[in-house]
Amino acid sequence: MAKDRMLKFVTVAKQMPTKRDAAERKHDFHEIYREFAADKAAEQAGRCSQCGVPYCQSHCPLHNNIPDWLRMTAEGRLQEAYQLSQSTNTFPEICGRICPQDRLCEGNCVIEQSGHGTVTIGAIEKYITDTAWQEGWVEPIRPAQERGESVAIIGAGPAGLAAADALRRAGVQVTVYDRHDRAGGLLTYGIPGFKLEKEVVMRRIRQLEEGGVQFELNCNVGQDISFDAIRGKHDAVIIATGVYKSRDLNVPNATAPGIVRAIDYLTASNRKSFGDEVPEFDSGELNAEGKRVVVIGGGDTAMDCVRTAIRQGAKSVKCLYRRDRANMPGSQREVENAEEEGVEFVWLTAPRGFVAEERVEGVMVSQMRLGAPDATGRRSPEVIEGADYVEPADLVIKALGFEPEDLPRLWGVEGLDVTRWGTIRADFRTHATSLPGVFAVGDIVRGASLVVWAIRDGREVAESVLDYLADAPAIAAE
Ligand SMILES: Cc1cc2nc3c(=O)[nH]c(=O)nc-3n(C[C@H](O)[C@H](O)[C@H](O)COP(=O)(O)OP(=O)(O)OC[C@H]3O[C@@H](n4cnc5c(N)ncnc54)[C@H](O)[C@@H]3O)c2cc1C
Ligand code: SF4
Repeated sequence: MAKDRMLKFVTVAKQMPTKRDAAERKHDFHEIYREFAADKAAEQAGRCSQCGVPYCQSHCPLHNNIPDWLRMTAEGRLQEAYQLSQSTNTFPEICGRICPQDRLCEGNCVIEQSGHGTVTIGAIEKYITDTAWQEGWVEPIRPAQERGESVAIIGAGPAGLAAADALRRAGVQVTVYDRHDRAGGLLTYGIPGFKLEKEVVMRRIRQLEEGGVQFELNCNVGQDISFDAIRGKHDAVIIATGVYKSRDLNVPNATAPGIVRAIDYLTASNRKSFGDEVPEFDSGELNAEGKRVVVIGGGDTAMDCVRTAIRQGAKSVKCLYRRDRANMPGSQREVENAEEEGVEFVWLTAPRGFVAEERVEGVMVSQMRLGAPDATGRRSPEVIEGADYVEPADLVIKALGFEPEDLPRLWGVEGLDVTRWGTIRADFRTHATSLPGVFAVGDIVRGASLVVWAIRDGREVAESVLDYLADAPAIAAE
């Protein structure tokens, strides 16, 4: 059945333009594609053995009821599958697209463990919720009753948005403050559109706006409004500001023109995809087209940079990483995708400086080997003396990871405790900080993490804030 539809799908896709109305052809194409996708989803979902030890579920940070919604999908009960899926996940279609499933649900599927290839859980989760949007099953946010309390959320990334959704559904007045001109945090300006289409994020933001969430955009807390002013205006505050301080290199010529930060490079590319004017992109400063690009780093951000550079038409793209393939932090799936697209990985290499006159011309590369394991058991990279060489480059992108900004200092807040890593110290369960009525979630607490954890935090903190608001009159009276 699925094979027949595939043939029909390919035939229609290849059809040369005819006199038939283009809209009619497009409609046929979409209909056949939908039928084909439905068959594929049902076929995949039907592969779940309903093993009874759902490691997939326990390895999903949201503990999604995966086996049940797979069974419903296999039986064609898509609307029920959607309802079950969205009961534990605020943005299932986003997680379905960008969770590193090989490290979470799919990596722990018993069929995968037995060597028969995982059920494609993420793709099915995406399919279920995309279908729900198309079919109009996604309900608008309509609180049963309005409440008088107001909550401020600083940061419109997935953690802040998940909290906003849950609080608004409970009738709370919610204002989300963000320094960007669009909401979404890294969903909007970090993660590239080829992994997560921007319209998928924007329709969620429209849903929140239409449901009564107020967005105060272009509002940099600490500059445009003080943290204390926000505290004074609202009954509770949730800090969900993410981590944005890029780790840097302390080597010769590290500030030469042509050496850029991953976040700037990716933000420019994402802004372009919205049709924005981006002078740094148009001038070529943040555009890889026609350039020899070297990306430094081995995490998921580095993978996004190399794959974006390929799409921008770079002449060549190389990724330098100081350990080997088996020891890199990024997803192996992403590496395979990047290799297929033409990226060259140069394992066991690290920059020791840059060749630069007016702008960067090359990276001085040290070759490395893996030495003895360190305290964590991970083998440390060591420089091989005398094996340096120069890698020519017109654009170097530093993707070395992110650290938290020093919020108490930037915001002039006393009494907001941070950890020794600079992340905000918050209770693991309630997400309460050291300041009464102030909560913190997402990357600013965990350090650079994942969207699915941010969503979990956002859902959990909403519960805690509701408890706090319920107790607040009693606290005030004490
Ligand atoms: C390039 C890149 C690719 C990634 N790819 C993936 C992936 O494929 N899958 C995955 O699961 N995770 C991925 N991640 C990680 C994921 O994006 C983060 O873990 C997640 O977005 C964290 O959510 P958050 O809400 O805590 O913070 P963020 O998404 O960072 O949002 C924080 C928001 O706070 C705002 N803000 C910060 N300071 C202020 C201030 N002073 N005033 C007002 N607003 C402020 C910011 O503008 C931002 O909008 C990626 C990260 C990066 C950098
Ligand atoms: S949220 Fe992520 S980990 Fe959980 S089922 Fe979906 S794709 Fe898997």
